[in-house]
Amino acid sequence: MKKAIKVFKFGGASLKDANAIMNVANILKTFRDQRLVIVVSAMGKTTNAFEEVVNAHHKGTGEASKLLDAIKKHHYQICEALFGSEDEVYASVNDAFVEVEWVLDEPPHENYDYMYDQIVSIGELVSSKIAQAYFSKIGLPTQWLDARDIILTDDIFREGWVQWEETQERCDRLAKPMTEKPGFVLTQGFIGSTTENFTTTLGREGSDYTAAIFSYCLDAESMTIWKDVPGVLTADPRLFNHVTKIDRLSYREAIEMTYYGAKVIHPKTIKPLQNKSIPLFVKSFVEPEAEGTFISSEVEDTYPPMVAVEQHQALLQIATRDFSFVAEHHMSYLFTLIADLRMQVNMMQNTAISFVVCVNDIDNKVDQFIEKVQDQFKVILDRDLELITVRHFQQDVLDNLRRGKIILLEERLRNTVQMVARDVPVMQRKPKIK
Ligand code: ADP
Ligand code: ASP
Ligand code: MG
Repeated sequence: MKKAIKVFKFGGASLKDANAIMNVANILKTFRDQRLVIVVSAMGKTTNAFEEVVNAHHKGTGEASKLLDAIKKHHYQICEALFGSEDEVYASVNDAFVEVEWVLDEPPHENYDYMYDQIVSIGELVSSKIAQAYFSKIGLPTQWLDARDIILTDDIFREGWVQWEETQERCDRLAKPMTEKPGFVLTQGFIGSTTENFTTTLGREGSDYTAAIFSYCLDAESMTIWKDVPGVLTADPRLFNHVTKIDRLSYREAIEMTYYGAKVIHPKTIKPLQNKSIPLFVKSFVEPEAEGTFISSEVEDTYPPMVAVEQHQALLQIATRDFSFVAEHHMSYLFTLIADLRMQVNMMQNTAISFVVCVNDIDNKVDQFIEKVQDQFKVILDRDLELITVRHFQQDVLDNLRRGKIILLEERLRNTVQMVARDVPVMQRKPKIK
């Protein structure tokens, strides 16, 4: 009987340089006999570097080609270390970079988001070409699959929404037969395409989500995401000391944690897995033998306090200009606008004459929103805030988190406390100097 499919996702950190790619290959060697579908992100911080190319071209700073050259150089150095100076991979990597050069040869496209996706997606295309060629070269036969042939999205660039029925149909028709053949199948995270074959992206950090889409459509036995941390921790180790690994998590808890900013898993990842009861493992590519975190439905809901911090928050206090109550028809209007702009609302509260909402402050969505509503509403805006979410809170944990912060909005619902906060300015903290 054929083995069931497992889906693996390797993110930027696991592919950041030649040694990292060799380490991934060593992990894969231990799965040689398995039916694996491997989803890869762009290498290291390539997506950020491509964003700079896009911005430079958009603003016409004249730096775009130079920035692209630095990205190319980095990738060619990795190729040199993996393949030596001659290999077929150079031509295919070059073909991908040429597509960016074509975009840069033209004046900046009027649709920024469209231009963004055409350029930034090249990060995943080159990393997947290099990884596929390297794994095949060292005796792990691997087929390359273009994720854009499978994942159909709507035409909202930079945040394509998956069209599930068509994606399932394309997966059955194109991806499944590849998984029947010997060897691994390797594809790109983060990217999809519209019905007109324009490349789209699924939102930053979207490769985990891609792996979940493939897991769902291929009825995978399990999905594993390989990270630079031992598993899901009680908080981000970059921000907090004394974090501990959670061995087992329910889908529900994982959805809540990631939705409120636990950056270890993309928030959209869990739902498709939950719908088909596909377990998710979060494991360390540094210690591949270690247990990691197991996420499934069969897990008891008792957890230690867990903290997620989401930065770049804006708090909007919205009041009618004529001092009338903010009534349902106002809410309906405001929410339609929020939905149209695809803003993420993290917290809200209403009083008699105002409505307060905390949203992710990305791109210029907040400015667009204010511009649209300011005729009818007065808006007080606070920016550069953070949203701190504590699940399964204990009082001492909350007290610690509040230290040095001004809390602008707080909400408590069963076992969850959320605070929109900013740091107390140094002047007001009166720090002791002795
Ligand atoms: P990838 O290489 O897949 O893109 P990311 O860098 O996006 O990986 O995610 C891993 C990072 O997520 C970790 O290095 C860690 O700093 C951060 N992180 C945030 N919250 C948590 C958490 N609760 N548990 C573990 N890691 C977390
Ligand atoms: N490369 C993309 C990003 O950095 C997608 C991902 O890594 O998940 O956002
Ligand atoms: Mg990431």
